[in-house]
Amino acid sequence: MFTIKGKTGDWELVIGLETHIEVLSKSKIFSGASADYNPSVAPNTQVSMVDAAMPGMLPVLNDYCVDQAIKFGLGINAEISHKSRFARKQYFYPDLPQGYQISQPAEEPPVVGRGWVEIIGDDGNPKKILIERAHLEQDAGKLKHDAHPTKSFADYNRTGVTLLEIVTFLDVKNPENNSYITSPDEAEKYLRQIREIARALGVSKANMEEGSMRADVNVSVRPVGAKYFNERCEIKNMVSFKFIKAAIEYEARRQIEILENGGTIERNTMRYHPDDNITTVMRSKEDALDYRYFPDPDLLPLIIDDERIERIRKTMPELPAATRTRYIEKFGLSEYDATRLTETVDISHWFDAAVNGKAERAKSIANWMISELFAHPENYDIENQKSGIVDGMRIITPTDLSELVDMISASEINGKQAKEIFIKMLDGESGTPHEIADKFGMKQITDTSAIESAVDEVIKNNPAQVEQYRGGKVGLLGFFVGNVMKATQGQANPAVVNELLRKKLG
Ligand code: ADP
Ligand code: MG
Repeated sequence: MFTIKGKTGDWELVIGLETHIEVLSKSKIFSGASADYNPSVAPNTQVSMVDAAMPGMLPVLNDYCVDQAIKFGLGINAEISHKSRFARKQYFYPDLPQGYQISQPAEEPPVVGRGWVEIIGDDGNPKKILIERAHLEQDAGKLKHDAHPTKSFADYNRTGVTLLEIVTFLDVKNPENNSYITSPDEAEKYLRQIREIARALGVSKANMEEGSMRADVNVSVRPVGAKYFNERCEIKNMVSFKFIKAAIEYEARRQIEILENGGTIERNTMRYHPDDNITTVMRSKEDALDYRYFPDPDLLPLIIDDERIERIRKTMPELPAATRTRYIEKFGLSEYDATRLTETVDISHWFDAAVNGKAERAKSIANWMISELFAHPENYDIENQKSGIVDGMRIITPTDLSELVDMISASEINGKQAKEIFIKMLDGESGTPHEIADKFGMKQITDTSAIESAVDEVIKNNPAQVEQYRGGKVGLLGFFVGNVMKATQGQANPAVVNELLRKKLG
């Protein structure tokens, strides 16, 4: 368990995340304007009358975005509400032309209800992280303060782009239910799960650097073993795994110090400063905003019937958790290997392409990927599955690896030769593994008579070792195998060598 040592004892952490992911769709949630506001798009060119909040303009709900939310909800094992509503969350800020954000009210069921994702917890065991809800809402525009000495600029291209806010659940009435995040590492793992699910489903790019995934981080601390929850603070708008982890730790230590000095925690909204690695109060409880939520009179309640949910369920691809189980159950991979190979959807697609339905290859492919390929990230293009030579380096493809692995199992080459071919490929050698083996005269000698003469020669030349071996020092077998391999330029089939040596020495 992750704990922090204080003056008075050890403390544990309670963490709740409110994660925003930007929903992939052509147009915005309530208008027909393009939702693709990437930096190359000129400011304020993708703003409809609705986004600009012109008087009398009416929002129209984008059904595709609702489908995306349902898809994500099914991906996190959640209940989908048959009826939910949109409400206006009122506040003034120059990035919000309407003067309110259309969201779904916290007191009512949102489009996606209670669900969960599974992570590997700090103790190494699978752990369910409960999710309270996920709701649809609008994004705001972007302000630019650094382009002019005395002026700020507003770009409303992002205004009205669809967000899905996913909130983790804390069973406040039942503190024994520990299905929540309790450490910086678990927070990162949870966010990675959300990201992978969103990407696997095509619901969001969920990219923190781009801002298509952002998190508000709630942190509280309590003495280890305490059966209550303390007041928490919320760190706003975090966009990096590294900073989220650092901010949680700093914030927890800050709270511990206050509590240990007899103080109490106020429910403040905090801002994290990456340069100094500190959190400071952004808004205190006294200036907490009253959003005066009320149902948006321009929008009908969102009604979703079972037929729609089932239609979407049928289109769901395999999710990372299911992929992992498939690797363990169908391919016999270890939990560790299965976890590594499902870290991202791109990796598992690459792996599946290399296995290409031949389960008997799976274990060797997994070994090669994890122990060799992952050590050379510049030599593979998991994301786009590109091939060819890029910057003088060869991109290894799934077919390259499956061919190599098949050559070993067909006894055409041995493991050592395979490694040599692999290294040649890394170094930019072109051609298939078969062509490279031919070019460098690598083949495996399985013909017993050819190996036998080498075995006899080695036995003849090492009488002392033979005597020791026969006297019980069987560990010397490796010595003989090594010499036979050397004598055959590494081309002998090691299994045949072993067998012959055992027979002749024994
Ligand atoms: P708010 O209404 O302020 O947004 P919510 O009830 O929606 O608060 O909770 C926001 C997040 O904070 C949730 O993920 C929730 O699990 C988490 N949270 C609630 N209480 C605590 C606490 N005592 N310590 C840490 N996190 C908490
Ligand atoms: Mg909330």
